[in-house]
Amino acid sequence: MDNVRVRFAPSPTGYLHIGGLRTAVYNYLYARQHNGKFLLRIEDTDRTRFVEGAIENLIRSLTWSGIEIDEGVMMEGGEVVEKGDCGPYIQSKRLDIYKKYVDQLLESGHAYYCFCTKERLDALREEQKIKGKVPRYDGLCRGVSMEEAKERIANGEDYVVRLKLPHDRDISFEDEARGTITINSNEMDDQVLMKSDGFPTYHMAVVVDDHLMGITHIIRGEEWLPSTPKHVYLYEALGWEVPTYIHLPGVLNSDHKKLSKRQGDVSVEDFRGHGYLPEGLVNYLALVGWSPEDNQEIFTMDELIKAFDTKRIAKTGGVFDVKKLDWVNSHYMKELSTDELLEMAMPYIEEAGLFTKEDVEKNPEHYRVLMETIQDGLDRLEQVPEACGFLYDEYDVTEEAALEQLKSESAPKVVTGLEEILGEMDEITLEDAGKLMKQVQKASGVKGKNLYMPARAAMTGNVHGPELSNIIYLLGKEEILKRLEKAKGYFA
Ligand code: GLU
Repeated sequence: MDNVRVRFAPSPTGYLHIGGLRTAVYNYLYARQHNGKFLLRIEDTDRTRFVEGAIENLIRSLTWSGIEIDEGVMMEGGEVVEKGDCGPYIQSKRLDIYKKYVDQLLESGHAYYCFCTKERLDALREEQKIKGKVPRYDGLCRGVSMEEAKERIANGEDYVVRLKLPHDRDISFEDEARGTITINSNEMDDQVLMKSDGFPTYHMAVVVDDHLMGITHIIRGEEWLPSTPKHVYLYEALGWEVPTYIHLPGVLNSDHKKLSKRQGDVSVEDFRGHGYLPEGLVNYLALVGWSPEDNQEIFTMDELIKAFDTKRIAKTGGVFDVKKLDWVNSHYMKELSTDELLEMAMPYIEEAGLFTKEDVEKNPEHYRVLMETIQDGLDRLEQVPEACGFLYDEYDVTEEAALEQLKSESAPKVVTGLEEILGEMDEITLEDAGKLMKQVQKASGVKGKNLYMPARAAMTGNVHGPELSNIIYLLGKEEILKRLEKAKGYFA
């Protein structure tokens, strides 16, 4: 397919919802798969929803996720800039453009001025509700002649512009994921196209912009599906070609309801804060609402670009499953080099007060071994401080199974053996640490489980945990001897 152009068109509400990120990801995959362009447009015609810094935030979240913007709104040197031949790409800067096309629709008879007051519309809605009807504009102002309308406007009356829908006409369009969709115009409302403040509504702006920006495929959430027939009619009224539509199923919570901010984390920033990696979040999100032909679950962005298929987009909502996200993310956590892990985990480590960058500079090997030791058990970066607990938490033995080990017959022999061998050593190197338990085995005559379990219990206070030789190296001689002293207090 030639010249594919897709867009992500969020409203600047202050944060990027993960459902929004998924929409952006699908658009991006589609653009890359077809050597097309991915545009970012800001839909800020609803000024009441405007939030300071929201555009920067959005772009930062997209960039963090690995999505590159080809055209439209982007950031350069910390500034929001617009690039491309179809600008401006921020809707509030395009008011004169919308006005031109609203005027065109008025002239061609596809739109009309409406002077109905809020009071009248409220009363109408109430009345329709009582009668059990779907609230809809009754078309009163369709009867106002152009001449009269111009006069009323000149007299300062407030007005909006509405779409004049044809009577009883089936409006159809193709959705690449859902097939043909047909709605009769009698079930639709004469949509407001321009508000009394001169701002277009979303419906007017989205059609004008998608056309003028040469958008070929509209990939967006299914919440816009009911509006699409209006958009399709607008294309027709303006004499424009209708783009291809692909509507995406919702991202749902475990109760199969829309994932909403009130229930906790929904923004990309929230997930980033919990220490999910962009590769993990994007990989998992791509699978909520789309599935590949085989059962592959781990995908890099490049693999997603190859495998993505709009025909395989689900028709019903996908549940956002944090456990599954953790599992996918843990895969990418394991792929980090120890240096990368250390660097990315540093903010969490410093926040928890475990150690500082200066500490790392003084003894890089120690901290590298620490990361290597804990890496396999991690789902996300925020777990790093807790995983380092065996080294940093105040030592005591409270775990029942560990206490049991210290009360075992072999425990005193193992601990004495450890003390003897350590007593003869200087500081423990990684190599020493690897040999230590063998030496204790020789000295104590205890082996296997009877050796390792009490040793672990005595050194860490737990019966499970990371590789023992790494723990020995990381704790160091003095700390181990201190712990052994305390452990003795729990002997039978
Ligand atoms: N501004 C709309 C939103 O916030 C975009 C809808 C569309 O993609 O057409 O979701």
